[in-house]
Amino acid sequence: MEKKSKYEKLVLKEKSAWLLMKEDEKKGLEKLSREYLDFLNQCKTERECVSYFYEAAVKKGFTEVKDFLSSGSVKPGRKIVSTNRNKNIILTVVGKRPMEEGLNIICAHMDSPRLDLKQNPLYEDTNLVFLKTHYYGGIKKFHWLNIPLAIHGRIVKINGETIDLKLGEKEEDPVFLIPDLLPHLSKKLSEKTVTDAFQAENLNLVMGHIPVDEDEKEAVKINILKMLNEQYGFDEKDFNSAELEIVPSLKAREAGFDRSFIAGYGQDDRISSFLAFQALMNTEQPDRTSVVLLIDKEEVGSEGNSSIQSKFFELFISDLLEKTGKEYSEKVLKKTLYNSYAISADVDSAFDPNYKDVFDIRNTSKIGYGLVLVKYTGHGGKYGASDANAEYMARIRKLLTDHQVIFQFGSIGKIDEGGGGTISKFLASYGMEIVDAGTPVLGMHSPYELTSKADLHEALKAFTVFFSKM
Ligand code: MN
Ligand code: MN
Repeated sequence: MEKKSKYEKLVLKEKSAWLLMKEDEKKGLEKLSREYLDFLNQCKTERECVSYFYEAAVKKGFTEVKDFLSSGSVKPGRKIVSTNRNKNIILTVVGKRPMEEGLNIICAHMDSPRLDLKQNPLYEDTNLVFLKTHYYGGIKKFHWLNIPLAIHGRIVKINGETIDLKLGEKEEDPVFLIPDLLPHLSKKLSEKTVTDAFQAENLNLVMGHIPVDEDEKEAVKINILKMLNEQYGFDEKDFNSAELEIVPSLKAREAGFDRSFIAGYGQDDRISSFLAFQALMNTEQPDRTSVVLLIDKEEVGSEGNSSIQSKFFELFISDLLEKTGKEYSEKVLKKTLYNSYAISADVDSAFDPNYKDVFDIRNTSKIGYGLVLVKYTGHGGKYGASDANAEYMARIRKLLTDHQVIFQFGSIGKIDEGGGGTISKFLASYGMEIVDAGTPVLGMHSPYELTSKADLHEALKAFTVFFSKM
């Protein structure tokens, strides 16, 4: 054992959560990990997340906002849910205090980097048929070569009929691949920069090579279209009104000899979405109204009507306020949001000892050291950052300390190495107090990311006390 210094109290000392967690907590963590693995395997797109959370919430007694508006009133403990265009979901448990005094909000995003199908994706070249893709979010293109991929998404026909696809997940399903060039012929390619060597327009999924018959032009393509029509009932034109997402067909599972990790696709930011949701499910009669806001399009800069910038969120809060009995006004809405506390729940890049150069070890989160608080994001001289106020940081530190949550501090990496943003700045524009917090991730934005079971556990604790005690 290390000898204790009499000055110990003066010094910030971080320790592995595995050393600090209590024995019974370690047992609870295994159950939580299994639920999380199951969630990751069921939900790989924002639409799938919305359906999953919506159904689970209704089972837990949440009322759809439309039904609530016609019958209910805002009483403490009331649970209300609403969705936006099948890509956002907002859930709330009404608190004892007037809503005007502020809400406790946790927001997270459900979209993850992936490949989307182009609107006119199908083509035949020589003897093969492909689907053209357009990458979504920050990816390293070579990660997506020669791994099993699945097609998830929705086709809407002009008669309004919707066809939901999830192909490449079941044992008996085919998977899809983007073949890479063999090393034997990669001499010139390997002399190029990574950006030049891997071109977005080459990320084409191979679909088949059986011709329909001898005389037909584009006979392989016709054969694929014939099969799509027979099995799913759509034709080539219907790709024009479809949202089909290509995601890794990899099952989430435990990783590491000590089984301390969870490996899975899209943990940025489905880990926070899952935990924020679970935390709210643990919340019964909070003091302040608790809100979980799960959104889309974070990975592409938070634009569009399913992003955090969609006014759907304001509309929902207005609906609730109208039911408080007081006369509703825009000012009341603004005041409510201004007085709110928020956590922008998102993952952080964990320190990776193999790439020491890009991290500032004193200011980078470590996997397995608990929830990470990120005071500010952005890049360069804090450009584009939402910078949490010292006063709010202190309150969050106190909340976590008082409730024995294991936490640490982080930032994405060395100052001029790059950077990134989250949705916090959009909520911050309402004037509310907000900080970024989440779990560290190794291999972030890769098709198979790593998180720690211990961090999963501590983040849930943090989000739960944020709702019940903040
Ligand atoms: Mn994220
Ligand atoms: Mn991300």
